[in-house]
Amino acid sequence: MGKAEFRFYAELNDFLPPELRGRSFIYEFFGQPTVKDAIEALGIPHVEVELIIANGESVDFSYHLRHGDRIAVYPVFESLDVQEILRIRRAPLRRISFACDAHLGKLARLLRLLGFDTVHSPTISDPELVALSQAGRILLTRDRQLLKHGGVTHGYWVRSTKPLEQAREVVRRFDLRDRIAPFTRCLVCNGLLRPLPKEEALPRVPPKVREWCEEFLICASCGRIFWPGTHYPKLSAWIELITRP
Ligand SMILES: [Zn+2]
Repeated sequence: MGKAEFRFYAELNDFLPPELRGRSFIYEFFGQPTVKDAIEALGIPHVEVELIIANGESVDFSYHLRHGDRIAVYPVFESLDVQEILRIRRAPLRRISFACDAHLGKLARLLRLLGFDTVHSPTISDPELVALSQAGRILLTRDRQLLKHGGVTHGYWVRSTKPLEQAREVVRRFDLRDRIAPFTRCLVCNGLLRPLPKEEALPRVPPKVREWCEEFLICASCGRIFWPGTHYPKLSAWIELITRP
């Protein structure tokens, strides 16, 4: 049996049992498993990992463990400059878009509210989500098994169960505060919103709204018309909550 010393950094510790968090520990193995096998056996989805250092040098997932190795594992650094060090993936994500699993509909709407391109459907299947990840979307899920799927290239395990907290997590994790563009995307279908001239909008909105509203937006995909109605203060408060430092 071989033994290697592992240490996981930052939020990767969320996946470990409490007694292994934030410190080095011994991992025992038979044969020559890859470091990817070991990391996943310890419960960490590979998509959460950006950088692996073995005995002081960066290695990729295919590195085979040897007895006496010292392994340090770091999470995705979207917001830090680690270009000096070899990354596991060729390039970090620069065009940010998301795919939410079937259970994260509220999170999807909040991300759209902030202007982020977010695919979601209550009937979306796991193979569809894997394909969306391969096409460059970050898969957001609370299902750790789904993130361990070999085909998933970019993903994030959402920790919180509360939608506003989840949105806050995603914004912080991917350093998105400077990229927020509220009220630019349809909450219902993810289409882009554009201004609609008042004279075109008026025949299509309720009479009460006609009396006072001057500005309208229309979704380029589904044709829904939006105006700053009674939900507006609530939505603005949500944006403030999500983006507060
Ligand atoms: Zn729409």
